[in-house]
Amino acid sequence: MNLKKLGWNPFFESHFEQHGDPGLRPARVLCEHRNLYEVASTEGAIMAEVTGNLRHKANSRADFPTVGDWVAIADAPGGERAVIHTVLPRKSVFSRKAVLGNSKAGQAGALADEQVLAANIDYAFLVTGLDGNFNVRRIERYVAIGWDSGAQPVIILNKADLCDDLEERLAATEEVAIGVDVHAVSAARGEGLDALGPYLQEGLTVAFLGSSGVGKSTMINRLLGEDRQVVHDVREGDSRGRHTTTSRELVVLPEGGIVIDTPGLREIQAWSDSEGLSRTFGDIEGLIGKCRFSDCHHQSEPGCAVRAALEDGSLDAGRYRSYLKLQKELRHLEMRQDNQAARQTQREFARKIRRYHQDMKALRKKGLA
Ligand code: GDP
Ligand code: ZN
Repeated sequence: MNLKKLGWNPFFESHFEQHGDPGLRPARVLCEHRNLYEVASTEGAIMAEVTGNLRHKANSRADFPTVGDWVAIADAPGGERAVIHTVLPRKSVFSRKAVLGNSKAGQAGALADEQVLAANIDYAFLVTGLDGNFNVRRIERYVAIGWDSGAQPVIILNKADLCDDLEERLAATEEVAIGVDVHAVSAARGEGLDALGPYLQEGLTVAFLGSSGVGKSTMINRLLGEDRQVVHDVREGDSRGRHTTTSRELVVLPEGGIVIDTPGLREIQAWSDSEGLSRTFGDIEGLIGKCRFSDCHHQSEPGCAVRAALEDGSLDAGRYRSYLKLQKELRHLEMRQDNQAARQTQREFARKIRRYHQDMKALRKKGLA
């Protein structure tokens, strides 16, 4: 496949050329099956593994390839598979991590392992339903997550056919999403989808985010037409790859444009970090900076700028509540990640013990122990 259709551009090219290794060629990660990656290059799709060197140098999971990544590959001996030597720098990253805004706990969060769900996304389609799902506060958070990633957020209000007060809801959405395009569509009826055309350009990558049931699949299927199956069949790769159920994938649309559709990305929750929080709630963080005491709890302290703004109405109480709620969720997420890290350590320890027993058994067999 033509690299440009896969999203190759001067940004990646310049990084790739810095490696200057003529034995390597660029490829994009289509999906990930445990430690095996399906990658596409000019020569089609192939299964690839990371080199031992990459594995050794990796400091965290974030250093491993993920769907959407551009990587430098070479053929493995035998030619059936490829090896991934390097992951090129990412233009944008959707990751699950827990780093808190201006709290001290955030320092610990910064060390939490980052799970990169997808990389190099140009547009994040933030999908909400115009039915009972509609929630301005949620949209506000989605926008924060979108900005965080480095992608351009685009709000899609689906199920317009079920909505009587569209104008009102559009206005409410635009209020919390300054600088973000908002589109009302009906995926089921195929209405309004033409407006998405400008984002679905050759070489640009789009990801769909939004809670379950808002119509992401319906929309993606519309965009793919009947070609989705074809895209799968065209892929070469070893049989192991073909039969493994993929949980993340990148698909090139027949008319140009690239869609990344992964379950991890789909279920967006509060995995935003401080930057997105500040960007979305810059006004509130500005107020907090003006409180007389730096450790102000904004309850009854004298000289509290937040309380003053709430009282004179310049800060909306609902907006402040959603800021607090998001902070709380992030803290909760952070704690959960700590537990996950502890479990991971336990698992690694158990694995070491098992290996030790296996080694001892082997040695005993050989009469060496
Ligand atoms: P996903 O979980 O986000 O992928 O949502 P789906 O695409 O599976 O859609 C969930 C339900 O909403 C399905 O029953 C769809 O038929 C329905 N749906 C999707 N788009 C629309 C729409 O524009 N209007 C209406 N009325 N229903 C829709
Ligand atoms: Zn205060």
